[in-house]
Amino acid sequence: MTAPPAEDIGAIDAPAAPPVDDGTATPMMAQYLAIKKKHADCLLFYRMGDFYELFFDDAVQAAAALDITLTKRGQHAGADIPMCGVPVHASDAYLARLIRRGFRVAVCEQTEDPAEAKKRGGAKSVVRRDVTRIVTPGTLTEDTLLDARSNNFLAAVASAGEAMGLAWLDVSTGGFFVQTVSADTLAAALARVAPGELLAPSKLLQRPALFELLADWKDRLTPQADSLFDSVNAESRLKTAYGVSSLDAYGSFSRAEIAAAGALLDYVTITQVGKAPRLDPLRQIHSSSVLDIDQATRRNLELTETLTGDRKGSLLAAIDRTVTGAGARLLAARLSAPLTDAAAIRDRHDSVSFLIDHPGLRDDLRARLRHAPDLDRALSRLTLGRGGPRDLVAIGTGLTLTDTLKGLFGDADGSPPAELAQSVEDLGLHDVLIDRLTRALADDVPLQARDGGFIRAGYHEGLDEIRTFRDESRRLIAGLEGRYREETGADGLKIKHNNVLGYFIEVTSRNADKLGDAFIHRQTMSNAVRYSTPELAELARKIAEAADRALALEQELFSDLVKEVVSRAAPIGLAAAAIAVMDCSAGLAGLAIQLDYARPVMKPGLNFDIAGGRHPVVEAALMKAGEARFVANDCDLSEDRRLWLVTGPNMAGKSTFLRQNALIVILAQMGSFVPAASAEIGVVDKLFSRVGAADDLARGRSTFMVEMVETAMILNQATERSLVILDEIGRGTATFDGLSIAWACVEYLHDVAKARTLFATHYHELTALTERLDALSPHAMRVKEWEGDVVFLHEIAAGAADRSYGIHVARLAGLPPSVIDRAEAVLTTLEQGEQSGAVTRLVDDLPLFQAMPRQVAAPPVQGPSPVEEALEGITPDDLSPREALEFLYRLKGLHQEEKS
Ligand code: ATP
Repeated sequence: MTAPPAEDIGAIDAPAAPPVDDGTATPMMAQYLAIKKKHADCLLFYRMGDFYELFFDDAVQAAAALDITLTKRGQHAGADIPMCGVPVHASDAYLARLIRRGFRVAVCEQTEDPAEAKKRGGAKSVVRRDVTRIVTPGTLTEDTLLDARSNNFLAAVASAGEAMGLAWLDVSTGGFFVQTVSADTLAAALARVAPGELLAPSKLLQRPALFELLADWKDRLTPQADSLFDSVNAESRLKTAYGVSSLDAYGSFSRAEIAAAGALLDYVTITQVGKAPRLDPLRQIHSSSVLDIDQATRRNLELTETLTGDRKGSLLAAIDRTVTGAGARLLAARLSAPLTDAAAIRDRHDSVSFLIDHPGLRDDLRARLRHAPDLDRALSRLTLGRGGPRDLVAIGTGLTLTDTLKGLFGDADGSPPAELAQSVEDLGLHDVLIDRLTRALADDVPLQARDGGFIRAGYHEGLDEIRTFRDESRRLIAGLEGRYREETGADGLKIKHNNVLGYFIEVTSRNADKLGDAFIHRQTMSNAVRYSTPELAELARKIAEAADRALALEQELFSDLVKEVVSRAAPIGLAAAAIAVMDCSAGLAGLAIQLDYARPVMKPGLNFDIAGGRHPVVEAALMKAGEARFVANDCDLSEDRRLWLVTGPNMAGKSTFLRQNALIVILAQMGSFVPAASAEIGVVDKLFSRVGAADDLARGRSTFMVEMVETAMILNQATERSLVILDEIGRGTATFDGLSIAWACVEYLHDVAKARTLFATHYHELTALTERLDALSPHAMRVKEWEGDVVFLHEIAAGAADRSYGIHVARLAGLPPSVIDRAEAVLTTLEQGEQSGAVTRLVDDLPLFQAMPRQVAAPPVQGPSPVEEALEGITPDDLSPREALEFLYRLKGLHQEEKS
């Protein structure tokens, strides 16, 4: 296969090229076009006063995407210029919608005061503007654009020689990771990370092996020039970012890993226009340290979202009891990447156990955490220069909480286990910063530093003086009002303020002539006249000056505070991570208690012994619906019975049983307790599941082809440490083909892969293999036949099912009774002996459906029907063409009546 050119895969539709400046553009349009030329792949938000305006094709696309009015403004090259705009104060909501639709947006701000521009070049000069940020899906930091409970990763894939590296960074939290991948493992790694935006060099997009894989990420892919992925530059970028002369302290990275990580840093610097993001230490993920879950398995098991893309109904939604955004993100990350190191898994179980055994601590912890601010996101915004006073308050409140949390653990009986003890230590000591932030920040602060008024009185002497002066001047103005009223005798004289005139004196028209020459006329209204005096103007000037000075001073103080916070980013980041661990563990402890989950015992061997296992999502759904209780089932895949052949009727619960065991492994290895009475699990290295089937028509694969591709991968990759869940292999083809494939797969899994396997099938013939395959253990879902009906017990028991009861399910589903009756007749014939002979007999019986009368058939007609009677009564030769036509209509009418 030859790969199409790289551009074809580029997902985000760039707006059409803007027109060029042919020298006739107005100065403002010339400025617009020059800036737009540099950001041709983005929509340009061009700041004009209180609006971001969009022009030309940008406007056409944005107006359609945002459902806002498209207008026009002036002309360019003889044609109207399309325009639309969004108000700056509400721009986040519009940005969010555009980003969700796959656009990138360059935000262009006015970088000087309009008054400055006037001074510089007269009334016609254009205010200087520059792009201050490029908003892309993977580089968001605003709470309004992000889901508090999910990470938003920007990922990059790079190659160096044959090797490939994948790096991912959450700009909004600083989490930064790399992993070595191959063409075989990239898809699974991407499915695990689930990036919001993926960067790839053009040369990789040309590789046939990767083209199809990356096409899956088309909507999130941002192709980049190969030069962005240069590993030598990348290394120096990383060293500079971490302020180190060697990266050895973080791990021993491959060139491809470094290239991918460096590309991310460069891209963030480009989109943030020079500002560097906050970075946690770069963490190297070794593929052997996480449970390998391929893309199809992840999707089928609906770990973090359902097949339809909803969080509701997923495993994550069923187990999430966290109360903070950071805790929820950690839980999702752990669920996406369960561990394979038994000791590390046990450490997490220990934390959950401790919090189960200390209910008082757990409740207090959760009550405190419920109000915890998102330290990570506030810190990242402050680092990128995009934070505001509320982010500083969040840091102050969050750090103050660390003391409380330490106190809670200190008061608990017994010392916490390793992971929690480390977290308590990581909370750190932040007294000096807490003290400074508390002293500096007012109780109620604005979102933006430019609004001022957020520094607490008493924090800075200079600022207090300016404010006193300002307040004093305001008092003087109030005094002036009384004096003027007295001196002029104008009742109701008032001193007011508005944004256009500033301070002014207002009297009713009736009183206007009482004011002498000292009063300078400013404005006449319908029933009032407005004046100024040199005295008032002087006071107003002083107040305005004081306000400007106060604001400038507040900005300075704000920068100092931000600098101090950023200089302590590492310990604050550690504290944030510690809070997330506590929330995640307390949430899992709460879950275990609420739903009676058990601590799994992680074993070094190949054990798999689940007693009374349940499906966490199906159980929750049944509970919510108040329907029947979930029936718990055991599953013992010890070495001598490691392959279970599960037969049983449709709807009896085979798929549920298969999935629940896979989910129990995932839960256990992510560090959670499990929905079972007890569980002993020899750590699983790879989890494979082929359950359910869907066409992948986009890739030109039929259901059966998808099934075979997935099965091939399982057979090729499963080891004896793996857990394999196969549901109805070979169903999408002819019976004997399917049976043969299923047969051979069972033999292979038993003899070659030796994986712990649950193999559900309707091919009861496979139970014959029990004779030959030692570790094959037949099991069946039990049903009870009662008064001609079938009752599903949802219980698994040793042995094989004798039949599938498919026809029974078909009846429940509402197939026409005649079809059901016929199916039963066919089944009896088929069951009567050798199948091909039976089929021949059936074929001899054809046509099948004629043999069975339709149950809702019309009652037999007594005597000639009205149509027949009408026909009796005519002689065709006697009819004129018109009469023949009319007769035909009459017949049709009679026939309709007969039918109804
Ligand atoms: P098919 O072969 O038609 O796919 P199946 O045997 O795989 O059917 P499931 O899809 O697993 O059956 O289960 C059918 C329904 O039975 C589930 O949606 C659930 O409501 C219920 N069910 C399954 N297992 C249990 C259980 N252990 N306890 C209670 N109800 C269950």
